[in-house]
Amino acid sequence: QFPLGRRLPCDIYWHGVSFHDNDIFSGQVNKFPGMTEMVRKITLSRAVRTMQDLFPLEYNFYPRSWILPEEFPLFVDEVRMLRDSDPSWKPTFIVKPDGGCQGDGIYLVKDPSDIRLTGSVPSRPAVVQEYICKPLLVDKLKFDIRLYVLLKSLEPLEIYIAKDGLSRFCTEPYQEPTLKNLHQVFMHLTNYSLNIHSGNFIHSDDANTGSKRTFSSILCRLSSRGADVKKLWSDIISLVIKTIIALTPELKVYYQSDIPAGKPGPTCFQILGFDILLMKNLKPMLLEVNANPSMRIEHEQELSPGVFGNVPSPVDEEVKVAVIRDTLRLVDPQKKKRKDVHSERQDVDSRRSKANIGCNCFWCCRCQAPEQGPEEPLPAGPAALPSLCLKQVFPKYAKQFNYLRLVDRVAALFIRFLGVKGTTKLGPTGFRTFIRNCKLSNSNFSMASVDILYIDITRRWNSMGIDHKESGMCLQAFVEAFFCLAQKKYKSLPLHEQVASLIDFCEYHLAALDEKRLVCGRG
Ligand code: ADP
Repeated sequence: QFPLGRRLPCDIYWHGVSFHDNDIFSGQVNKFPGMTEMVRKITLSRAVRTMQDLFPLEYNFYPRSWILPEEFPLFVDEVRMLRDSDPSWKPTFIVKPDGGCQGDGIYLVKDPSDIRLTGSVPSRPAVVQEYICKPLLVDKLKFDIRLYVLLKSLEPLEIYIAKDGLSRFCTEPYQEPTLKNLHQVFMHLTNYSLNIHSGNFIHSDDANTGSKRTFSSILCRLSSRGADVKKLWSDIISLVIKTIIALTPELKVYYQSDIPAGKPGPTCFQILGFDILLMKNLKPMLLEVNANPSMRIEHEQELSPGVFGNVPSPVDEEVKVAVIRDTLRLVDPQKKKRKDVHSERQDVDSRRSKANIGCNCFWCCRCQAPEQGPEEPLPAGPAALPSLCLKQVFPKYAKQFNYLRLVDRVAALFIRFLGVKGTTKLGPTGFRTFIRNCKLSNSNFSMASVDILYIDITRRWNSMGIDHKESGMCLQAFVEAFFCLAQKKYKSLPLHEQVASLIDFCEYHLAALDEKRLVCGRG
Protein backbone atom coordinates (compact mmCIF):
# COMPACT_ATOMS: atom_id res chain seq x y z
CA GLN A 1 0.00 0.00 0.00
CA PHE A 2 1.10 3.51 -0.76
CA PRO A 3 1.15 5.26 2.60
CA LEU A 4 -0.33 8.73 2.68
CA GLY A 5 2.41 11.35 2.74
CA ARG A 6 5.12 9.12 1.22
CA ARG A 7 7.63 11.38 -0.50
CA LEU A 8 9.83 8.93 -2.41
CA PRO A 9 8.46 8.05 -5.82
CA CYS A 10 7.80 4.39 -6.70
CA ASP A 11 8.93 2.38 -9.72
CA ILE A 12 5.51 0.84 -10.23
CA TYR A 13 2.10 2.01 -9.01
CA TRP A 14 -0.58 -0.69 -8.93
CA HIS A 15 -4.10 0.71 -8.69
CA GLY A 16 -7.18 -1.33 -7.89
CA VAL A 17 -9.63 0.47 -10.13
CA SER A 18 -8.69 3.21 -12.59
CA PHE A 19 -6.06 5.78 -13.49
CA HIS A 20 -6.08 8.78 -11.16
CA ASP A 21 -2.55 10.02 -11.04
CA ASN A 22 -2.30 13.74 -11.61
CA ASP A 23 0.39 14.03 -8.95
CA ILE A 24 2.72 11.24 -10.09
CA PHE A 25 5.58 12.36 -12.30
CA SER A 26 7.64 9.23 -12.90
CA GLY A 27 7.49 5.44 -12.78
CA GLN A 28 4.84 3.23 -14.30
CA VAL A 29 1.14 3.03 -13.53
CA ASN A 30 -0.89 -0.15 -14.16
CA LYS A 31 -3.84 1.70 -15.72
CA PHE A 32 -4.25 3.87 -18.80
CA PRO A 33 -6.23 7.09 -18.50
CA GLY A 34 -9.62 6.62 -20.17
CA MET A 35 -9.48 2.81 -20.41
CA THR A 36 -12.48 2.29 -18.13
CA GLU A 37 -14.53 4.66 -20.29
CA MET A 38 -13.27 3.09 -23.53
CA VAL A 39 -14.32 -0.47 -22.70
CA ARG A 40 -17.84 0.40 -21.55
CA LYS A 41 -20.32 -1.47 -23.73
CA ILE A 42 -21.47 1.57 -25.74
CA THR A 43 -18.02 3.08 -26.30
CA LEU A 44 -16.50 -0.27 -27.29
CA SER A 45 -19.39 -0.92 -29.70
CA ARG A 46 -18.91 2.52 -31.28
CA ALA A 47 -15.15 2.06 -31.64
CA VAL A 48 -15.57 -1.39 -33.22
CA ARG A 49 -18.33 -0.09 -35.48
CA THR A 50 -16.04 2.62 -36.88
CA MET A 51 -13.61 -0.15 -37.78
CA GLN A 52 -16.46 -2.28 -39.20
CA ASP A 53 -17.38 0.65 -41.49
CA LEU A 54 -13.81 0.68 -42.79
CA PHE A 55 -13.01 -3.03 -42.73
CA PRO A 56 -16.25 -5.05 -42.50
CA LEU A 57 -14.65 -8.45 -43.09
CA GLU A 58 -11.74 -7.98 -40.72
CA TYR A 59 -14.08 -6.89 -37.91
CA ASN A 60 -16.77 -9.56 -38.27
CA PHE A 61 -15.79 -11.02 -34.88
CA TYR A 62 -18.13 -8.64 -33.04
CA PRO A 63 -21.88 -9.30 -33.10
CA ARG A 64 -24.10 -6.81 -34.91
CA SER A 65 -24.96 -4.17 -32.27
CA TRP A 66 -27.16 -1.10 -31.84
CA ILE A 67 -26.91 1.60 -29.22
CA LEU A 68 -30.02 2.33 -27.17
CA PRO A 69 -31.92 4.55 -26.86
CA GLU A 70 -30.72 6.63 -29.82
CA GLU A 71 -30.55 3.79 -32.37
CA PHE A 72 -33.79 2.09 -31.35
CA PRO A 73 -35.66 3.21 -34.51
CA LEU A 74 -32.68 2.14 -36.65
CA PHE A 75 -32.62 -1.23 -34.86
CA VAL A 76 -36.34 -1.78 -35.52
CA ASP A 77 -35.95 -0.81 -39.20
CA GLU A 78 -32.87 -2.94 -39.81
CA VAL A 79 -34.40 -6.00 -38.18
CA ARG A 80 -37.54 -5.56 -40.29
CA MET A 81 -35.46 -5.25 -43.45
CA LEU A 82 -33.32 -8.28 -42.64
CA ARG A 83 -36.44 -10.35 -41.87
CA ASP A 84 -38.08 -9.26 -45.13
CA SER A 85 -35.03 -10.23 -47.13
CA ASP A 86 -34.64 -13.59 -45.34
CA PRO A 87 -37.87 -14.95 -43.81
CA SER A 88 -35.96 -17.96 -42.39
CA TRP A 89 -33.91 -15.62 -40.17
CA LYS A 90 -35.16 -16.17 -36.61
CA PRO A 91 -32.88 -13.98 -34.52
CA THR A 92 -32.58 -13.56 -30.77
CA PHE A 93 -31.18 -10.36 -29.28
CA ILE A 94 -29.38 -9.71 -26.02
CA VAL A 95 -29.85 -6.37 -24.25
CA LYS A 96 -26.93 -5.26 -22.08
CA PRO A 97 -27.07 -2.09 -19.97
CA ASP A 98 -24.12 0.25 -20.51
CA GLY A 99 -21.63 0.13 -17.67
CA GLY A 100 -23.19 -3.06 -16.32
CA CYS A 101 -21.09 -6.05 -15.31
CA GLN A 102 -21.52 -9.60 -14.00
CA GLY A 103 -24.62 -10.09 -16.14
CA ASP A 104 -26.44 -7.31 -14.27
CA GLY A 105 -29.64 -6.22 -16.07
CA ILE A 106 -29.01 -8.43 -19.13
CA TYR A 107 -31.98 -10.08 -20.85
CA LEU A 108 -32.83 -11.82 -24.12
CA VAL A 109 -35.62 -10.92 -26.53
CA LYS A 110 -36.96 -12.39 -29.74
CA ASP A 111 -38.40 -9.17 -31.10
CA PRO A 112 -37.47 -5.46 -30.83
CA SER A 113 -40.92 -4.76 -29.38
CA ASP A 114 -40.01 -6.89 -26.32
CA ILE A 115 -37.34 -4.42 -25.22
CA ARG A 116 -38.35 -2.92 -21.91
CA LEU A 117 -39.65 0.51 -22.70
CA THR A 118 -40.65 3.58 -20.81
CA GLY A 119 -42.71 5.72 -23.13
CA SER A 120 -41.70 4.81 -26.66
CA VAL A 121 -37.95 4.24 -26.20
CA PRO A 122 -35.82 2.15 -23.82
CA SER A 123 -34.91 4.19 -20.76
CA ARG A 124 -31.46 3.02 -19.70
CA PRO A 125 -28.53 3.41 -22.14
CA ALA A 126 -27.70 -0.06 -23.37
CA VAL A 127 -26.35 -2.09 -26.25
CA VAL A 128 -28.63 -4.52 -28.02
CA GLN A 129 -26.77 -7.22 -29.84
CA GLU A 130 -27.45 -10.17 -32.04
CA TYR A 131 -27.36 -13.22 -29.77
CA ILE A 132 -24.96 -15.97 -30.83
CA CYS A 133 -27.34 -18.92 -30.89
CA LYS A 134 -24.89 -21.67 -31.80
CA PRO A 135 -22.00 -21.54 -29.35
CA LEU A 136 -19.49 -24.36 -29.00
CA LEU A 137 -20.60 -26.67 -26.20
CA VAL A 138 -18.48 -28.80 -23.91
CA ASP A 139 -20.32 -31.40 -21.84
CA LYS A 140 -23.52 -29.90 -23.36
CA LEU A 141 -22.78 -26.61 -21.60
CA LYS A 142 -22.18 -23.12 -22.99
CA PHE A 143 -18.92 -21.53 -21.81
CA ASP A 144 -16.88 -18.42 -22.53
CA ILE A 145 -13.17 -17.69 -22.35
CA ARG A 146 -11.48 -15.04 -20.24
CA LEU A 147 -8.10 -14.23 -21.71
CA TYR A 148 -5.60 -11.87 -20.13
CA VAL A 149 -3.91 -9.33 -22.35
CA LEU A 150 -1.16 -6.94 -21.34
CA LEU A 151 -1.17 -3.59 -23.11
CA LYS A 152 2.42 -2.73 -22.27
CA SER A 153 2.63 0.48 -24.21
CA LEU A 154 0.42 2.60 -26.42
CA GLU A 155 3.13 4.40 -28.36
CA PRO A 156 4.79 2.29 -29.72
CA LEU A 157 2.01 -0.28 -29.50
CA GLU A 158 3.05 -3.36 -27.52
CA ILE A 159 0.62 -6.18 -26.79
CA TYR A 160 1.14 -9.47 -24.95
CA ILE A 161 -1.36 -12.32 -24.60
CA ALA A 162 -1.35 -14.91 -21.83
CA LYS A 163 -0.93 -18.46 -23.12
CA ASP A 164 -3.64 -19.71 -20.81
CA GLY A 165 -6.95 -18.30 -19.66
CA LEU A 166 -10.12 -19.38 -17.93
CA SER A 167 -13.21 -21.08 -19.32
CA ARG A 168 -16.34 -20.22 -17.40
CA PHE A 169 -19.26 -22.60 -17.72
CA CYS A 170 -23.01 -22.29 -17.57
CA THR A 171 -24.68 -24.63 -15.13
CA GLU A 172 -27.75 -25.73 -17.13
CA PRO A 173 -27.45 -27.72 -20.41
CA TYR A 174 -27.69 -25.36 -23.37
CA GLN A 175 -30.65 -25.17 -25.73
CA GLU A 176 -31.05 -22.71 -28.54
CA PRO A 177 -33.16 -19.78 -27.36
CA THR A 178 -36.93 -20.19 -27.46
CA LEU A 179 -39.63 -18.05 -25.85
CA LYS A 180 -39.78 -20.68 -23.10
CA ASN A 181 -36.10 -20.71 -22.11
CA LEU A 182 -35.08 -17.09 -22.80
CA HIS A 183 -35.16 -16.29 -19.10
CA GLN A 184 -32.94 -19.15 -17.95
CA VAL A 185 -29.76 -17.29 -17.06
CA PHE A 186 -27.89 -20.46 -16.00
CA MET A 187 -28.37 -21.74 -19.55
CA HIS A 188 -27.54 -18.57 -21.52
CA LEU A 189 -25.18 -16.42 -19.44
CA THR A 190 -21.74 -17.71 -18.58
CA ASN A 191 -20.97 -15.19 -15.83
CA TYR A 192 -19.24 -16.82 -12.88
CA SER A 193 -20.95 -14.37 -10.53
CA LEU A 194 -24.37 -15.65 -11.65
CA ASN A 195 -23.66 -19.36 -12.02
CA ILE A 196 -22.02 -19.62 -8.61
CA HIS A 197 -25.56 -19.28 -7.22
CA SER A 198 -26.79 -22.31 -9.15
CA GLY A 199 -27.11 -25.58 -7.26
CA ASN A 200 -25.24 -27.22 -10.17
CA PHE A 201 -22.08 -25.10 -9.81
CA ILE A 202 -19.01 -27.28 -9.32
CA HIS A 203 -15.90 -25.74 -7.78
CA SER A 204 -12.97 -27.03 -9.79
CA ASP A 205 -10.24 -28.92 -7.97
CA ASP A 206 -8.21 -29.33 -11.12
CA ALA A 207 -7.91 -27.64 -14.49
CA ASN A 208 -10.09 -30.12 -16.45
CA THR A 209 -13.34 -30.32 -14.56
CA GLY A 210 -15.97 -28.18 -12.87
CA SER A 211 -17.57 -24.87 -13.74
CA LYS A 212 -14.32 -22.94 -14.15
CA ARG A 213 -11.48 -24.62 -16.04
CA THR A 214 -8.30 -23.56 -17.74
CA PHE A 215 -8.63 -22.67 -21.43
CA SER A 216 -5.72 -25.00 -22.19
CA SER A 217 -7.74 -27.96 -20.85
CA ILE A 218 -10.48 -27.12 -23.37
CA LEU A 219 -7.89 -26.82 -26.13
CA CYS A 220 -6.47 -30.24 -25.28
CA ARG A 221 -9.95 -31.71 -25.53
CA LEU A 222 -10.62 -29.98 -28.84
CA SER A 223 -7.27 -31.06 -30.17
CA SER A 224 -7.94 -34.68 -29.25
CA ARG A 225 -11.16 -34.40 -31.28
CA GLY A 226 -9.10 -33.24 -34.26
CA ALA A 227 -9.85 -29.50 -34.10
CA ASP A 228 -7.31 -27.11 -35.62
CA VAL A 229 -6.19 -25.48 -32.39
CA LYS A 230 -3.33 -23.51 -33.96
CA LYS A 231 -5.81 -21.82 -36.31
CA LEU A 232 -8.06 -21.07 -33.33
CA TRP A 233 -5.16 -19.41 -31.49
CA SER A 234 -4.22 -17.43 -34.53
CA ASP A 235 -7.87 -16.20 -34.85
CA ILE A 236 -7.88 -15.22 -31.18
CA ILE A 237 -4.61 -13.30 -31.57
CA SER A 238 -6.11 -11.43 -34.55
CA LEU A 239 -9.25 -10.63 -32.58
CA VAL A 240 -7.22 -9.21 -29.69
CA ILE A 241 -4.91 -7.11 -31.89
CA LYS A 242 -7.80 -5.76 -33.98
CA THR A 243 -9.82 -4.87 -30.88
CA ILE A 244 -6.90 -2.97 -29.38
CA ILE A 245 -6.35 -1.21 -32.72
CA ALA A 246 -10.00 -0.05 -32.47
CA LEU A 247 -9.41 1.31 -28.95
CA THR A 248 -6.04 3.03 -29.37
CA PRO A 249 -7.13 6.24 -31.17
CA GLU A 250 -9.32 7.45 -28.30
CA LEU A 251 -6.92 6.13 -25.70
CA LYS A 252 -4.25 8.36 -27.23
CA VAL A 253 -6.54 11.38 -26.87
CA TYR A 254 -7.06 10.58 -23.18
CA TYR A 255 -3.35 9.94 -22.73
CA GLN A 256 -2.16 13.27 -24.14
CA SER A 257 -4.78 15.00 -22.00
CA ASP A 258 -3.70 13.39 -18.72
CA ILE A 259 0.00 13.00 -19.46
CA PRO A 260 0.91 15.82 -21.90
CA ALA A 261 3.93 15.12 -24.08
CA GLY A 262 7.05 16.92 -22.90
CA LYS A 263 5.93 17.13 -19.28
CA PRO A 264 7.12 14.71 -16.62
CA GLY A 265 4.61 11.97 -15.96
CA PRO A 266 4.36 8.23 -15.51
CA THR A 267 4.16 5.72 -18.34
CA CYS A 268 1.27 3.26 -18.31
CA PHE A 269 0.57 -0.42 -18.84
CA GLN A 270 -2.61 -2.39 -18.20
CA ILE A 271 -3.86 -5.94 -17.88
CA LEU A 272 -7.15 -6.34 -19.76
CA GLY A 273 -9.62 -9.21 -19.54
CA PHE A 274 -10.98 -10.25 -22.95
CA ASP A 275 -14.26 -12.21 -22.86
CA ILE A 276 -14.58 -14.39 -25.93
CA LEU A 277 -17.25 -16.84 -27.04
CA LEU A 278 -16.42 -19.69 -29.41
CA MET A 279 -19.03 -20.48 -32.03
CA LYS A 280 -19.80 -24.06 -32.97
CA ASN A 281 -17.52 -23.68 -36.00
CA LEU A 282 -14.71 -22.51 -33.60
CA LYS A 283 -14.86 -18.89 -34.73
CA PRO A 284 -14.02 -16.67 -31.74
CA MET A 285 -16.43 -13.78 -31.10
CA LEU A 286 -15.65 -10.84 -28.83
CA LEU A 287 -18.18 -10.32 -26.03
CA GLU A 288 -16.48 -7.57 -24.09
CA VAL A 289 -13.24 -6.18 -22.71
CA ASN A 290 -12.76 -5.71 -19.00
CA ALA A 291 -10.49 -2.91 -17.80
CA ASN A 292 -10.36 -4.22 -14.28
CA PRO A 293 -10.47 -8.02 -14.49
CA SER A 294 -10.77 -9.87 -11.21
CA MET A 295 -7.43 -11.18 -10.00
CA ARG A 296 -8.88 -13.14 -7.09
CA ILE A 297 -7.30 -16.54 -6.58
CA GLU A 298 -9.74 -17.78 -3.97
CA HIS A 299 -13.46 -18.24 -3.83
CA GLU A 300 -16.11 -18.24 -1.17
CA GLN A 301 -17.35 -21.62 -0.03
CA GLU A 302 -19.74 -22.88 2.62
CA LEU A 303 -17.31 -24.62 4.94
CA SER A 304 -19.96 -25.95 7.30
CA PRO A 305 -23.71 -25.26 7.26
CA GLY A 306 -24.15 -21.48 7.32
CA VAL A 307 -20.41 -20.79 7.72
CA PHE A 308 -18.70 -19.24 4.68
CA GLY A 309 -14.99 -18.74 4.17
CA ASN A 310 -12.44 -18.09 1.42
CA VAL A 311 -10.68 -21.13 0.05
CA PRO A 312 -7.91 -21.23 -2.59
CA SER A 313 -9.04 -21.75 -6.19
CA PRO A 314 -6.30 -23.77 -7.96
CA VAL A 315 -7.56 -22.92 -11.47
CA ASP A 316 -7.58 -19.15 -10.82
CA GLU A 317 -4.19 -19.42 -9.16
CA GLU A 318 -2.63 -21.31 -12.05
CA VAL A 319 -3.70 -18.70 -14.59
CA LYS A 320 -3.63 -15.41 -12.70
CA VAL A 321 -0.41 -15.71 -10.72
CA ALA A 322 1.47 -16.26 -13.97
CA VAL A 323 -0.15 -13.18 -15.53
CA ILE A 324 0.78 -10.88 -12.63
CA ARG A 325 4.27 -12.37 -12.30
CA ASP A 326 5.00 -11.93 -16.02
CA THR A 327 3.56 -8.43 -16.11
CA LEU A 328 5.92 -7.40 -13.34
CA ARG A 329 8.83 -9.10 -15.12
CA LEU A 330 8.01 -7.28 -18.36
CA VAL A 331 7.64 -3.83 -16.84
CA ASP A 332 10.48 -4.32 -14.35
CA PRO A 333 12.42 -1.04 -14.40
CA GLN A 334 15.63 -2.87 -13.46
CA LYS A 335 15.29 -5.27 -16.39
CA LYS A 336 17.41 -3.25 -18.78
CA LYS A 337 20.21 -2.84 -16.23
CA ARG A 338 20.65 -6.56 -15.59
CA LYS A 339 21.32 -9.26 -18.07
CA ASP A 340 19.51 -11.86 -16.02
CA VAL A 341 18.00 -15.24 -16.53
CA HIS A 342 14.84 -13.65 -17.86
CA SER A 343 16.47 -11.97 -20.84
CA GLU A 344 18.61 -15.02 -21.55
CA ARG A 345 15.45 -17.07 -21.54
CA GLN A 346 13.82 -14.61 -23.88
CA ASP A 347 16.78 -15.01 -26.23
CA VAL A 348 16.27 -18.75 -26.13
CA ASP A 349 12.52 -18.25 -26.63
CA SER A 350 13.03 -15.99 -29.61
CA ARG A 351 15.63 -18.30 -31.17
CA ARG A 352 13.16 -21.14 -30.73
CA SER A 353 10.28 -19.23 -32.24
CA LYS A 354 12.43 -18.14 -35.20
CA ALA A 355 13.22 -21.78 -35.84
CA ASN A 356 9.51 -22.45 -35.57
CA ILE A 357 8.31 -20.48 -38.58
CA GLY A 358 4.56 -20.37 -39.08
CA CYS A 359 3.87 -21.40 -35.51
CA ASN A 360 2.83 -18.77 -33.03
CA CYS A 361 4.16 -21.00 -30.27
CA PHE A 362 1.08 -20.57 -28.10
CA TRP A 363 -0.16 -24.05 -28.49
CA CYS A 364 3.14 -25.94 -28.78
CA CYS A 365 4.45 -24.57 -25.51
CA ARG A 366 1.30 -25.41 -23.65
CA CYS A 367 0.46 -28.91 -24.77
CA GLN A 368 4.02 -30.14 -25.24
CA ALA A 369 3.32 -30.93 -28.86
CA PRO A 370 6.75 -31.26 -30.47
CA GLU A 371 8.30 -27.92 -31.34
CA GLN A 372 10.55 -27.84 -34.34
CA GLY A 373 13.21 -25.63 -32.77
CA PRO A 374 16.42 -26.96 -31.23
CA GLU A 375 16.05 -27.92 -27.58
CA GLU A 376 18.52 -25.70 -25.77
CA PRO A 377 19.06 -26.09 -22.05
CA LEU A 378 17.60 -23.11 -20.20
CA PRO A 379 20.07 -21.21 -18.06
CA ALA A 380 19.76 -22.01 -14.37
CA GLY A 381 20.29 -19.52 -11.60
CA PRO A 382 18.84 -18.01 -8.47
CA ALA A 383 16.14 -16.22 -10.45
CA ALA A 384 15.17 -19.29 -12.50
CA LEU A 385 11.47 -18.43 -12.82
CA PRO A 386 9.11 -20.40 -15.01
CA SER A 387 9.25 -19.29 -18.65
CA LEU A 388 7.03 -16.42 -19.70
CA CYS A 389 3.30 -17.07 -20.01
CA LEU A 390 2.77 -13.69 -21.66
CA LYS A 391 3.69 -13.82 -25.33
CA GLN A 392 4.29 -10.75 -27.43
CA VAL A 393 1.92 -10.48 -30.39
CA PHE A 394 2.48 -6.85 -31.30
CA PRO A 395 4.80 -5.57 -32.77
CA LYS A 396 5.64 -9.22 -33.55
CA TYR A 397 2.77 -9.45 -36.05
CA ALA A 398 2.62 -5.72 -36.82
CA LYS A 399 3.15 -6.21 -40.56
CA GLN A 400 -0.14 -8.10 -40.87
CA PHE A 401 -2.16 -5.49 -39.01
CA ASN A 402 -0.64 -2.05 -39.61
CA TYR A 403 -2.92 -1.37 -42.60
CA LEU A 404 -5.85 -1.34 -40.16
CA ARG A 405 -4.45 1.58 -38.16
CA LEU A 406 -6.14 4.33 -40.17
CA VAL A 407 -8.16 5.84 -37.32
CA ASP A 408 -4.94 6.05 -35.31
CA ARG A 409 -3.56 8.34 -38.01
CA VAL A 410 -6.78 10.40 -38.01
CA ALA A 411 -6.41 10.69 -34.21
CA ALA A 412 -2.84 11.96 -34.66
CA LEU A 413 -4.21 14.78 -36.87
CA PHE A 414 -6.91 15.51 -34.29
CA ILE A 415 -4.37 15.68 -31.45
CA ARG A 416 -2.10 17.97 -33.46
CA PHE A 417 -4.92 20.54 -33.79
CA LEU A 418 -6.26 20.25 -30.24
CA GLY A 419 -4.03 23.16 -29.33
CA VAL A 420 -4.28 23.65 -25.57
CA LYS A 421 -2.73 20.68 -23.84
CA GLY A 422 -5.08 18.86 -21.54
CA THR A 423 -8.21 19.07 -23.68
CA THR A 424 -9.93 16.22 -25.45
CA LYS A 425 -12.19 18.27 -27.74
CA LEU A 426 -11.45 20.38 -30.78
CA GLY A 427 -12.79 23.94 -30.94
CA PRO A 428 -14.10 25.58 -34.15
CA THR A 429 -10.83 27.49 -34.65
CA GLY A 430 -8.79 24.27 -34.37
CA PHE A 431 -11.04 22.62 -36.96
CA ARG A 432 -10.67 25.58 -39.33
CA THR A 433 -6.88 25.51 -38.89
CA PHE A 434 -6.91 21.79 -39.70
CA ILE A 435 -8.85 22.46 -42.92
CA ARG A 436 -6.62 25.37 -43.87
CA ASN A 437 -3.27 23.72 -43.09
CA CYS A 438 -4.25 20.54 -44.91
CA LYS A 439 -5.49 22.58 -47.88
CA LEU A 440 -8.94 20.99 -47.81
CA SER A 441 -11.09 24.00 -48.65
CA ASN A 442 -11.58 25.14 -52.22
CA SER A 443 -14.20 26.77 -54.41
CA ASN A 444 -16.51 23.74 -53.92
CA PHE A 445 -15.98 23.63 -50.18
CA SER A 446 -15.91 27.12 -48.66
CA MET A 447 -14.93 27.98 -45.09
CA ALA A 448 -18.63 28.65 -44.43
CA SER A 449 -19.37 25.00 -45.36
CA VAL A 450 -16.53 23.96 -43.05
CA ASP A 451 -18.22 25.78 -40.17
CA ILE A 452 -21.57 24.18 -40.97
CA LEU A 453 -19.98 20.72 -41.07
CA TYR A 454 -18.32 21.40 -37.70
CA ILE A 455 -21.54 22.64 -36.07
CA ASP A 456 -23.76 19.86 -37.45
CA ILE A 457 -21.57 16.96 -36.46
CA THR A 458 -20.45 18.41 -33.11
CA ARG A 459 -24.00 19.21 -32.06
CA ARG A 460 -25.19 15.70 -32.85
CA TRP A 461 -22.39 14.00 -30.93
CA ASN A 462 -22.79 16.31 -27.96
CA SER A 463 -26.56 15.68 -27.88
CA MET A 464 -25.83 11.97 -27.33
CA GLY A 465 -24.79 13.01 -23.84
CA ILE A 466 -21.41 11.30 -23.90
CA ASP A 467 -19.31 13.92 -22.14
CA HIS A 468 -20.67 17.26 -21.07
CA LYS A 469 -17.52 18.35 -19.22
CA GLU A 470 -15.96 20.05 -22.23
CA SER A 471 -17.53 21.71 -25.22
CA GLY A 472 -16.24 21.13 -28.74
CA MET A 473 -15.74 18.30 -31.17
CA CYS A 474 -14.82 14.90 -29.70
CA LEU A 475 -12.60 12.44 -31.59
CA GLN A 476 -15.54 10.34 -32.86
CA ALA A 477 -17.18 13.46 -34.27
CA PHE A 478 -13.88 14.43 -35.93
CA VAL A 479 -13.59 10.93 -37.40
CA GLU A 480 -17.12 11.25 -38.81
CA ALA A 481 -16.28 14.66 -40.32
CA PHE A 482 -13.04 13.22 -41.73
CA PHE A 483 -14.92 10.31 -43.37
CA CYS A 484 -17.37 12.84 -44.87
CA LEU A 485 -14.51 14.89 -46.32
CA ALA A 486 -12.83 11.74 -47.66
CA GLN A 487 -16.04 10.58 -49.37
CA LYS A 488 -16.48 14.01 -50.93
CA LYS A 489 -12.94 14.21 -52.24
CA TYR A 490 -12.39 10.65 -53.50
CA LYS A 491 -15.79 9.69 -54.80
CA SER A 492 -15.86 6.18 -56.22
CA LEU A 493 -13.36 4.35 -53.96
CA PRO A 494 -14.22 2.03 -51.06
CA LEU A 495 -14.39 3.91 -47.75
CA HIS A 496 -11.05 2.68 -46.37
CA GLU A 497 -9.27 3.78 -49.55
CA GLN A 498 -10.98 7.18 -49.46
CA VAL A 499 -9.90 7.66 -45.84
CA ALA A 500 -6.35 6.41 -46.48
CA SER A 501 -6.01 8.79 -49.45
CA LEU A 502 -7.21 11.76 -47.43
CA ILE A 503 -4.83 10.91 -44.57
CA ASP A 504 -1.91 10.75 -47.04
CA PHE A 505 -3.02 14.07 -48.50
CA CYS A 506 -3.21 15.76 -45.06
CA GLU A 507 0.06 14.28 -43.83
CA TYR A 508 1.80 15.42 -47.02
CA HIS A 509 0.64 19.02 -46.60
CA LEU A 510 1.45 19.09 -42.90
CA ALA A 511 4.94 17.70 -43.52
CA ALA A 512 5.47 20.41 -46.18
CA LEU A 513 4.27 23.03 -43.70
CA ASP A 514 6.60 21.76 -40.98
CA GLU A 515 9.50 21.81 -43.42
CA LYS A 516 8.68 25.40 -44.41
CA ARG A 517 8.47 26.46 -40.76
CA LEU A 518 11.80 24.77 -40.05
CA VAL A 519 13.46 26.60 -42.93
CA CYS A 520 11.92 29.92 -41.84
CA GLY A 521 13.03 29.25 -38.28
CA ARG A 522 16.61 28.60 -39.40
CA GLY A 523 16.51 31.73 -41.56
P1 ADP B 1 -21.32 -8.44 -18.37
O1 ADP B 1 -20.30 -7.36 -18.39
O2 ADP B 1 -22.54 -8.03 -17.60
O3 ADP B 1 -20.76 -9.76 -17.94
P2 ADP B 1 -21.28 -9.51 -21.09
O4 ADP B 1 -21.26 -8.72 -22.33
O5 ADP B 1 -19.99 -10.19 -20.73
O6 ADP B 1 -21.81 -8.58 -19.89
O7 ADP B 1 -22.43 -10.58 -21.19
C1 ADP B 1 -22.72 -11.49 -20.14
C2 ADP B 1 -22.84 -12.91 -20.68
O8 ADP B 1 -23.88 -12.98 -21.65
C3 ADP B 1 -21.59 -13.37 -21.41
O9 ADP B 1 -20.66 -13.90 -20.52
C4 ADP B 1 -22.15 -14.41 -22.36
O10 ADP B 1 -22.31 -15.65 -21.73
C5 ADP B 1 -23.52 -13.87 -22.69
N1 ADP B 1 -23.50 -13.08 -23.95
C6 ADP B 1 -23.21 -11.76 -24.06
N2 ADP B 1 -23.32 -11.33 -25.33
C7 ADP B 1 -23.68 -12.40 -26.04
C8 ADP B 1 -23.98 -12.62 -27.42
N3 ADP B 1 -23.93 -11.62 -28.31
N4 ADP B 1 -24.32 -13.86 -27.81
C9 ADP B 1 -24.38 -14.88 -26.92
N5 ADP B 1 -24.14 -14.75 -25.61
C10 ADP B 1 -23.79 -13.53 -25.16
